[in-house]
Amino acid sequence: MQKPKSKSRTPRRFWDFLSDDKLIDAELSTDDPEGLDNLVRELPPGDEEPYVEFKYDLRGSEREKLHCVHGNHPHLAGFVMRKGDKRFLVGHICGKEIYGEDFDHYTADFNAAVNRQETLRKRREIENLTGPFMAWLQQVAASDVFKLYDSVRRQIDFRMPWISENVPLAGHYGMTVARVKMPPTLFLETTDPEAELARVIAEMSALAATLIASDDLAEKSVENIKRVLNAFIRRIEAVFDQLKEVEDFFQPAVLQATCDLANEHDNPKKRKYIAGLLTITCKRDRDKSTVQMPRNYKIPSRAGLDGLKESLRVL
Ligand SMILES: [Zn+2]
Repeated sequence: MQKPKSKSRTPRRFWDFLSDDKLIDAELSTDDPEGLDNLVRELPPGDEEPYVEFKYDLRGSEREKLHCVHGNHPHLAGFVMRKGDKRFLVGHICGKEIYGEDFDHYTADFNAAVNRQETLRKRREIENLTGPFMAWLQQVAASDVFKLYDSVRRQIDFRMPWISENVPLAGHYGMTVARVKMPPTLFLETTDPEAELARVIAEMSALAATLIASDDLAEKSVENIKRVLNAFIRRIEAVFDQLKEVEDFFQPAVLQATCDLANEHDNPKKRKYIAGLLTITCKRDRDKSTVQMPRNYKIPSRAGLDGLKESLRVL
């Protein structure tokens, strides 16, 4: 069997010169090396530089052994080498016998392509999942629900301030409210789901741009991206939970507990609170004011959130 002449120069790198666009969808491994076109059984003659075109590893499969151009040796893991339009198989330990040091260059060139391809594919995957997610977030941000949420808060604040001051402290009143879960953040001054969502959108656009532009999307960076996205998910879930507190507040048991609490601890001589169907009323002298659950209060679908969570699980 023939051996190529030894060369003193560094072999040309083939994969280095392939553009990202071409590399991203290139096949770099095969499970049927013998099914490839133009496969020859002998080392093809000529000075043309070979390169590693595919890798294969069929160890653990039941298939018959493949035969290497180097002494016909049977093997199951190796490389498909390409030289001009010819292909030939080299077992994973025989390349060095044929090409010596050059073989390290061929495999390094190929392995770099495998890594670059993985980065490109990860990046595309991340773009594919953050793109629709950002679009969904913008949709959520444009929803009427925030306006209605604020209007409920403002009305309660204005018409029955005792409620908005004391419901967040409901726990301190003890037994009266022990059986129902009072909305924990609805009447807190610091709660602002709309502003929080806007912050998440701004931070996420900035971060997504940086992360996707990163040249190094190694496993570690992908983990990092997942961690960052998961933190955003938790913040958005908190926003949804806050929005849901309006619905919770107007549940009969919660309204009743709220009114019981207020009738007991506010000023019973001056004010009386009445729970109605999706309404709460405060009577004082001949005056009464009512706040009702906005009829068109609708929490946006969480579809985008669930989609992203699912994608992150498998990324
Ligand atoms: Zn061999």
